[in-house]
Order: sequence, then structure tokens, then C-alpha cells
Amino acid sequence: MTVERRRIAVVGGGVAGLTAAYVLQQGGCEVSLYEAEDRLGGHAHTHDRASADGRVLRIDTGFIVHNERTYPLLLRLFRELGVATQDSEMSMSVRCEGCGLEYAGARGPAGLFARPSSALRGRYLRMLTEIRAFHRAARTTLATDRGDTLTLGRFLTRCGFSRYFVTHFVTPLVSAVWSCAPTTAMQYPAVYDLSNDLFALFLDPTMSYSSAVFRKRPAGWGDLAAAQHRKIDRLLDLAGVGDGTRLLEIGTGWGELALRAAARGASVVSVTLSQEQRDLARARIAQAGHADRVSVELCDYRQVTGRYDAVVSVEMIEAVGEDYWPVYFDTLERLMRPGGRIALQAITMPHARMLATRTTYTWIHKYIFPGGLIPSAEAIAQHSAAAGLRVRENDGYGGHYAETLRLWRERFTQRAAEVSALGFDPVFRRMWEFYLAYSEAGFRAGYLDVRQLLLTRAATPAPAGGPR
Ligand SMILES: Cc1cc2nc3c(=O)[nH]c(=O)nc-3n(C[C@H](O)[C@H](O)[C@H](O)COP(=O)(O)OP(=O)(O)OC[C@H]3O[C@@H](n4cnc5c(N)ncnc54)[C@H](O)[C@@H]3O)c2cc1C
Repeated sequence: MTVERRRIAVVGGGVAGLTAAYVLQQGGCEVSLYEAEDRLGGHAHTHDRASADGRVLRIDTGFIVHNERTYPLLLRLFRELGVATQDSEMSMSVRCEGCGLEYAGARGPAGLFARPSSALRGRYLRMLTEIRAFHRAARTTLATDRGDTLTLGRFLTRCGFSRYFVTHFVTPLVSAVWSCAPTTAMQYPAVYDLSNDLFALFLDPTMSYSSAVFRKRPAGWGDLAAAQHRKIDRLLDLAGVGDGTRLLEIGTGWGELALRAAARGASVVSVTLSQEQRDLARARIAQAGHADRVSVELCDYRQVTGRYDAVVSVEMIEAVGEDYWPVYFDTLERLMRPGGRIALQAITMPHARMLATRTTYTWIHKYIFPGGLIPSAEAIAQHSAAAGLRVRENDGYGGHYAETLRLWRERFTQRAAEVSALGFDPVFRRMWEFYLAYSEAGFRAGYLDVRQLLLTRAATPAPAGGPR
């Protein structure tokens, strides 16, 4: 590449600034480097520290460890500059001043049982078994992010990891890797967005991750996209969405509902907590020529202001959690103009089963959906009533969810090689297939149902059916 001789200022003399300055200068630019400190290197620094015996120890911090896979350009630079490196093992060791535990990771049994007495510590042995479960739960949570605002601390609590595991494994690990205080570590987000590619492999082109409504069953893969549109259209009809409707959507997904509402002439505000979903939804909406009618925002639904003719939320309540149901329904009520309509799609379970199982912690909580609770239709009615709302329509489609899940599962297994290429290992793939089959069985057996509900203010007369 040829670079014109230009005068360029580089601000900051850390590793990035120094590298940029070097490469630009090699390319023929006249470079001035500005550094606020009286030394170069930024985070990469060597500190002089006095040891207990009075010697001065020179301790490197910052840019120390690298590897060939993730740092190919850095290694090329090192070769070019003649910077020497040396092989090293990378492991972390932990010492607890409270209980005296000491171990080193990544050094096999010799590190894990550096003190033989550790083999007699029951909590420590349990901690070691929790590490695999932690990796699995973390991977699933990343893949199944639906915009939840999980912190690391809440993720660990919800998944039921022991306090000992948190204080003796996760906290030191995260604090060390990110050079942060232990309390800060627990506030870090547990999830970053990763999911679009995985979901695109097994969802239909509408990218709908919720139950479809089929014209006939059993259904084939080719029926799914139309069935997803049928589901959306029913909901929009239920909410009375048409030309000029001001619609709020809580939970954007990948934008298909907002897109179809805009095609009806509605103006749509859609909120999500997932940046990745927002970005893809915006792109799809712009591509369909509806960017002027739809705004997709990164926003907690509780922060939304204003009043809307209609509010729609598809399979979002399951992730809200029982403690927050009152807030959820109060917010729906607050955001609806007088005479407005709320249309929900919700997975439900029988009330008695919900009461009996709401404090249990099952496989699905641990590996697929940390937190949240599937409500019963009765719970929805009760919390709606408490918020001044009334359920006006309530239709179940459980058999349709079973079909939807079957089609997703078949697609997912057909595309195993592509799932694998995204980095999901055979254990994850088996787990995901099991989750889809397990959920399908729940709907086929009638243990689970999925419902479309119309809510209006209790004082509002029952609508005369709307444009359904
Ligand atoms: C304890 C620790 C261990 C780490 N270990 C590793 C590791 O093993 N491997 C690894 O890959 N990474 C590691 N990192 C991360 C790595 O050190 C950093 O990612 C990297 O050094 C960042 O380089 P940088 O140039 O982007 O930023 P910085 O190093 O932050 O440099 C920015 C520079 O800009 C200067 N500056 C800021 N504002 C101005 C201004 N207005 N005007 C002029 N100058 C300004 C600052 O003084 C600083 O010198 C570690 C970090 C820490 C803290």
C-alpha cells in the first residue's frame, strides 16, 4: 500500500498509538506522537516494587501475554522490530486469606491440589465440578440472549452456583482478567450479543423466534414463513393496528412484526435490549423501505414514555420474572391511550403447575432460560386486573408451537455442520436439540400452551371484535 507523505498526529503513546505511529511512518507519513504522561507504553508498564527482603522487583503489567492465533499481526511486528518473546504457560493461581485455600488453574492435578489437604475440602471439590456447568450455562446464555440485562452476579445466582464457587473461582478469575475490583466484576454484563448467526441457521427467513400459527398441520418447512406472518397478522388484528395507528412493540426480535405493522400504515416504536437484534432489525426495516415509519430503540420497556394506540409484546413476559409482573402490567397500562389495545403472545402453563413449580430449578433454567417464569393464563388475568386491565380475548395455539419447534429442530440438526462452524461444540448441539425436542413435547402433551391475548382497560367497554 502506498501512503502519500502527509503530516499525521497520533494522540496517545500506548501500544496502539505507538504501533499506529510506527506503521504510518513506515508508510511515508510524517508523524507526531502526543503523549500526556512522561513515559510511553500506556498500560504496558514495568513497576518497581519493594519486596519484603528489601529488593526491588520489576513487575510488568499490561501487554504481557499473547498467542499466535489471536495476535498474528503483533507477532509480525515483533519479528520486524526484533522484539524477543519467550514461551510461557499462562495460568492463574488463587489464594484465599480467609480459608487458606490455594490452587493454580491450567496446571493439572498438581496445581489443583497444590495443597493436598484441598482434596478433603468438600466445597472445593464441588467447586471443581461446577466449572463445567458454568462453561455450559455461559455458552447457552450467550446463544439464547433475548435482550435480558443480566449482570454476571445475577447470572450466577439464577443458575444456582454455590457462593464458594463464586468467591473462589469466578470472582478472582474475572477480577484478574479485567483488572477490576471484585464488586465491579459482579456488575459486568453476563451477555454480549452473539446470537444472530446461530438463530439465522434454524429460523425461517422472517427470523421469528416465537410460535407460528399454521393453516394446517402437520406442516412442512415451506409453510413456516407464511405461518409466522399469520401469527403476526392475528396479533396486529387483535391490537387493531391499521393505517395511522401509533404502535409500541415491547421486544423487537429481528423486526418482522414492526415491519408488517409499518406495511399496514402504522407508525411503530419498537424497544429492545439487544444491540445486535436492534441493528439487524433496523437494517431489515430500512431494506423494506419502512425506516420512516419505524424506530427501533435500545431501551428498557419501563423507561418508555408517551401513550400509544396499541401495544404489542410477543413472548416477552416469560423472561420478566414473577417479581416484575406487577411492573410489567402497570407499564402496559401506563403506555396505552384511553380506548387503546394491548395484544400479547405468551407461553403459559396450567395455574396449579405454575404454583407447584415456580420455585423449582430445572434443567431448562440451568441451561436454556436462566431466570424468568412461564405464567399461567390465570396469573396474567390477575396481574392485568391489578393494573386496571381486563383480558378480552384469550386464544390458545399450543399444537402450533409443537409444530414450530419440530421444524426448528429438524432444520437445526440438518445444519449441524454450519452450527459447528460457528463454534458450537457437539455438547452444545445435543443440548440445543434436546431443548427443542423437550419444549415440543411440552406443547404436544398440553403441559405448555401459547396464547394470544387482548387486554384493554377494565373500564373500557369490550371492543366489538376489531378488524379481525
Ligand atoms: C494489569 C494488566 C494486564 C494486562 N495483560 C495483558 C496481556 O497479558 N495481554 C494483552 O494482550 N493485554 C493485556 N492487558 C491489556 C493491554 O495492556 C491493553 O489492552 C493495551 O496496553 C492497551 O493499549 P492502548 O494503546 O490501546 O491503550 P493505553 O495503554 O491505555 O494507552 C493510551 C495512552 O494514551 C495516553 N493518553 C490518553 N489521553 C491522552 C491525551 N488526551 N493526550 C495525550 N495522551 C493521552 C495515555 O496516557 C496512554 O499512554 C493488560 C492490562 C492490564 C491493566
